[in-house]
Parts: sequence; structure tokens; C-alpha cells
Amino acid sequence: NGPGRDDKNGHGHGHGQHGQHGHLSKKREILLPLRKALPIWPHAEEIKAGLRGSKDVMLLTGETGSGKSTQVPQFLLDEPWCKGCIAITQPRRVAAISLARRVAEEMGSLLGSLSPASKVGYSVRFDNSTSPNTRIKFLTEGMLLQEMLRDPWLNQYSAVIVDEVHERSVNVDLLLGFLRNLVTGDKKGRNGKPLKVVIMSATADIESLFKFFDEGFQKSLNTCQKAKGDHTQTNGANDSDSSWSGIASSEDENSKKALTKKSKPNGVGKSNGERSLKRKENPSISPEPIDLTSDFMYTCYIEGRQYPVKIMYLPEPTQDFVEAALKSIFQIHYKEPLPGDILVFLTGQDTVEALERLVNEYALGMDTNVPKLLALPLFAALPQSAQQRIFHPSPPKTRKIILSTNIAETSVTVPGVRYVIDSGKVKIKQFRNRLGLDSLLVKPVSQSAAIQRKGRAGREAPGVCYRLYTEKDFVGLEKRTVPEILRCDLSGSLLTMKARGVDDIFSFPFLDRPPREALEKALLQLLQLGALTETGGISEVGLQLAKLPLTPTLGRVIVEAAKPERDCLLEIIDIIACLSVENIFLNLITEEKKEAAEEARRELYRREGDHMTLLTTVQAYAKENSDRKSWAERHFISHRAMQNVMDIRKQLRQQCTHLKLLHPSKIPLKESPAAPSEAQTNAILHSLLRGFAANTARLMPDGSYRTMLGNQTVAIHPASVMFGRKVEAIVFSEFVFTNKSYARGVSGVQLGWVGDVLGSMG
Ligand code: ADP
Repeated sequence: NGPGRDDKNGHGHGHGQHGQHGHLSKKREILLPLRKALPIWPHAEEIKAGLRGSKDVMLLTGETGSGKSTQVPQFLLDEPWCKGCIAITQPRRVAAISLARRVAEEMGSLLGSLSPASKVGYSVRFDNSTSPNTRIKFLTEGMLLQEMLRDPWLNQYSAVIVDEVHERSVNVDLLLGFLRNLVTGDKKGRNGKPLKVVIMSATADIESLFKFFDEGFQKSLNTCQKAKGDHTQTNGANDSDSSWSGIASSEDENSKKALTKKSKPNGVGKSNGERSLKRKENPSISPEPIDLTSDFMYTCYIEGRQYPVKIMYLPEPTQDFVEAALKSIFQIHYKEPLPGDILVFLTGQDTVEALERLVNEYALGMDTNVPKLLALPLFAALPQSAQQRIFHPSPPKTRKIILSTNIAETSVTVPGVRYVIDSGKVKIKQFRNRLGLDSLLVKPVSQSAAIQRKGRAGREAPGVCYRLYTEKDFVGLEKRTVPEILRCDLSGSLLTMKARGVDDIFSFPFLDRPPREALEKALLQLLQLGALTETGGISEVGLQLAKLPLTPTLGRVIVEAAKPERDCLLEIIDIIACLSVENIFLNLITEEKKEAAEEARRELYRREGDHMTLLTTVQAYAKENSDRKSWAERHFISHRAMQNVMDIRKQLRQQCTHLKLLHPSKIPLKESPAAPSEAQTNAILHSLLRGFAANTARLMPDGSYRTMLGNQTVAIHPASVMFGRKVEAIVFSEFVFTNKSYARGVSGVQLGWVGDVLGSMG
């Protein structure tokens, strides 16, 4: 007894040729039994009923792959309250795009921009594929926050589904705060239209989410009652606009109250009783059954379907997980029969591509009677077509090996996997207090992440997980990953809040409140970038930065480059496009290749540093009309990354035109072959400095570099063209920490310039 939507989904889609229409509806029919077999299917009625009436918030948990992301929006589409669009947010663009594609197929439709009749679309940074008829829109969390700038009440939506909440990205935390204010506020700006919010998570710890929303509802009840009994109240707490800033003015006191008080289970729904029971049956979820009943919320649990997974540890720790992974891949391949694909968790594009090359190299030496290997990379910056390949079944007599970052942990479910190889490492962003900067760090995963990774092997049959660390290491891992908001630079988040009218950021409802110092530091940084006025409101520049899909720092570089006296926006866009992909220069392993690459790339290197080198590279690549791919190969440059760069460049040009930072007549019809003059180079470096003023260091008498603001030692990364060079001052766009602090993306600048820019920031 499924939701019985089979006959409703397809109408109006696939306009155009009959053949295509037939193909689409056939595809829909083929997919229907698969949908019906998903663990979530029997819950369709429960999920629909759970959001009717006064219940505006649903908390839904279910294992990865149970069908939450693909099915829930389709379940809700025909509900009587659902007249507008359904937004469903994802932490990553890969997931947003691939889910949209999948749901379009399931509904027998083409994707957004391909068909004006399409009901499914997506919107991610640098890529929007929606149609006027889009009803289900997959978007990244950042994009929804962007939309809230234009439409703070989310009027185009009837429901917002926040997916993958367990990942706890900074953006999801911000969204939760805004959504809590929206659903528990007076909704004046929505003109009576309901807004339903579904919070979905792959892990079962939803108590904190329940408390968080419950607190909001209690607070709004208190405010209403107080307003009724006390007409003299004027502090703005019941002022409609202040559903964002005003209510929060008594946050601390109220949150204490809400924590000590239980919400009253008026008219307890079926789910709540059931849920408590489940709690008792399954003590692993929570030792103490706690009351999660509310008049305004519904909690729903989808039981997982998981086969047993055997865990294998290394007897000794390894220094080189890429090599250890390579060994494990071939061991599995020789020992284990087909079918059974392998999913390898690595840290980033660099390690994924390095292992991809190694696997392909070693596979050449395999006997002809051994099944083939097909290595498929998966990381956030991968072009769409390549991403989609991981969902295709393996060709005959071939084993797929998916080399992935933590994307495949919960965001993307790869079919066919029976073996997981877990490096035990993840690349995360972390704020380094002493430096005052975010840096990318390779860190051990948490136990909960390791458990998620293991689970990927048991989706379709019993599996094996090879952990490239020891059992003792596992025991020593952190229990869970610290939410990003507690470990990252908050300037982008604060800018988002300021741009949406949150005056008092210290009382914004955070699921986990960042420490006061971190908020203060971010405020200071925004002030230094000129994004805030002296009274703490958002400035003109700040508004521009908030509209750009970049960090405030990179945004500031753009705004600076657009000034008439700098006039180097096109060049800066090229550089920023490179900084937005992980690495365009291939990471080479053997000495022989390294030397060859040095030789081939010499014509691209610029003595001013990495940024001008990136610019020269983009210009040379763009000029290459005939065969860009072989040009890239000859220069040991990732063609994939360069395709991405060109794409981002195009989007950034469009956005800057849209924001009136770039006049369309400036965009050359043909690629300009001229190398930048000295004056242009200086303008480019000055623009970079304006954004990255905090990332500057000066040369010390002993030959080391020390940061201007924190007086910390940084070394120039060996991959930089500035490596080994001594100049009086440097500006850098990235900071990495491995065994020591490294500046990456380095340019040499004059010390006087640094002094000027720091002086102007006050
Ligand atoms: P959840 O959100 O609970 O993790 P999903 O709705 O994402 O579950 O996935 C349900 C099923 O749909 C999975 O088994 C997955 O293999 C399949 N699926 C999801 N996206 C795609 C896609 N782009 N191509 C093929 N199959 C997909």
C-alpha cells in the first residue's frame, strides 16, 4: 500500500518528441518498483499525515539510502498545503545535481532547464537548472541562504526540506536558525501561506534538534501570551519584523526555561507513542527515553536495512594511506569474486587523483584473465558528466573502484559496493586561532564518520570494510565530528546574517553557539574588509559581498579589482576561478615526472608568484583553440580542473555583470593574448592584498617569514613558485597545516603596500 502516486507524477513532462516522452515514461515505470522497495516507501502516508494541521516541523531520521532525499519531496508534492515549490537542501553540489537528475527520472521528466514543463530542477553555485514550472528544487544550503536575501520569507516555497543535517555544515546551522525564526515567528510576510519544514538526518540523535525547535515554539507561545496580558510591552519582542532579532533578545533566559520545561503532549499523535516505544527497544539510540512530543512537531523514524559488515584493521599504523589503499584494492580484486565494487574514502581531489593514476598504472600489468578495473573519482569539484558515471552499473567482467572524498559517506549512495576501504582521514576546514585564519587540515575521522563509511559496504549484501588504521587507533578517535560552526572562520556566516537583517548576532538561535570570541573576531574581520559600518550594520560593500558566491575575502578582492583605479576584474576573476578549484597543477609522484613538469610549465611561471602564474595559465589555456586537452597534458595540468575553471570564470563574469561590477562591453569576444603590463600586475596584487590583508607575512633577518598580524612563522609551500625565494613581503591565499604552517598561493609584494593596506583598515 504505497502512496499511490504512480499515475500522477508524469503528466506534463517530456514535451517535445514522442520518442523522448515514451523513453521518459518508460524509465519512470522501470524505476517505480525500485522506489517501492525503498525502506521509506511504507512510511509515505505517515509522512504526509505528519505535516498536516498544526504540525509545521518534521524531524525524520533514516539510514543513508533509505530513500529520504529522493522520495520525501515526491510524497509531499500533492499535499493540499503544498501549492508552491519544495526546496530541498544539500551540503554539496554533487548531491544536489545527482538527486535532481534522479528524481526527474523517477517522475518521468527532463531536468529543469532542459524542459520548460519540468517539475524538478536544481540550483547550485555557478549552475542553475530550473524551469518556470519547477516544483521540487534541489539546492545547496548556500544557495537557499542566497535566495533568502531576495526573499526573506521564502514566499516561493511551501516546504523546505533540510537534508543531511547530521553533517552540520555552517550553512545548515544558519539555515536552521533562520527557519526556526520563520516557523515559530508570526509569518506576517507570508500572507497566510503555510511553510512546512522537514529536517532529515542519517543519524538518530535528533534530541538536540527537537529541543532547538521546541524552544523556539515555546518562546513564541510565551511571547504571545505575554503580549496578550501585557499591552505596555515595547521592547520589540513581539514586533513582527523582529521575529529574527527581537525574540532573541531574551534568548538566554528563555532557553533556560525551555530546557527545564517539557512541552505538553496535548493530543499525543500516534507517532509519539510509537517513538517512545522504539526508544525503549533500541537502547543504542539513547539510553534514556526522552519525551519528544509537541503540538507543532512530528518525529518519524525510518528503520534501516543493513547487512552485516566485517571490519578488517591494519596490524600496524601506516604512514602512506594512498599506498595502503592501493595494496588493499589489488588484494580485494585478486581474492574476491565479482560482483562487488570497491569504495575508497580518501581526503581530497589530490589524493583521489593520485590513487586514480596509480590504479590505472598497476591495472595495465594485470593478467588478461583477471577481471578489469574501472577507477572512478568522486569529489565535489568533479564535472557533472563524470559524477554521473559512478551510478552506472559496472561493465561486464569489470570491477568498479570509486575513489571518493567523504562525499560518499552519506551524501551520495553508490550502488554495487561491497567493499569499503577507509583511509581514516578527512580534509576539514579549521580555524587556527593563532593565525586568525581558516586552514585545510587532514585529520583523523570521528568514530561516527568511520561507522558511516563502514555502513556503505552493507547496503545490498554482506560486505567488508578495510580500515587503514589499527583497532587501537579507532578506539582513540573522537566520538563525533565537531560541527563546522565551532571550528571555522565565521565571517561569511556573520555577513549572511547581517545581510538578512539580524542586528544582534549574539542572540541568534544557534543549534551550537560558537564562542563569543569567535563571533567577535569575525565581526572585526568584516569591519576590516569594509563590509560593516562603524555601527555594525551592513555597508554597501558588505551587501555586494553577500551577493557574491564567494568568501568575504575573495569577494573583497573582486570588489577592489572592479574599482576604476584598479581596473583588473577580468584578470582577478581568472585567478579566483583557479583558487576555487582544488589544484590545477597535477600532483606528481616520481622525480622523473616532476622534472618533466617543471620543464614544461616553465613558460607559465611568473616571478611575481603563484597568482600571476595561475593567470598566465588560464590565459594560455583559454587561447588554445584547437586541443586544450593535449595542451593540458603536455603541461601536466589537470584538464578536468581547467574545464571547471573555465566554467566558474564564465559564471563569475555573469554574476559581476549582474551586480554591475563589470560592464559587458569589457568582456572580450576573443581571448586576449597580451600579457599583463607591470601596472596591471601591480593593480592585481593590490586587489589581492585588499582582501587578503590578514594573510600577509614579512621576511625576517633569519630568512623566515612571519605573519604581519599574528607574528607567526609560516613557510612557503614547496608547491609554490615562490618556494625558496626571499622577498620583503608576501600575500597568500591559502594556508595549510601538515607538519608545519605553510602558505600556499603566494605572491611577492612590497612591504610598503602591506603597510598601506593594513593602515587603511585601521
Ligand atoms: P537517502 O536520502 O535516505 O540517503 P536517497 O533518496 O538519496 O536516500 O536514495 C535512495 C536510493 O536511490 C538509493 O538506493 C540510491 O542508490 C538511489 N539513487 C539516488 N540518487 C541516484 C542517482 N543519481 N542515480 C541512481 N540512483 C540513485
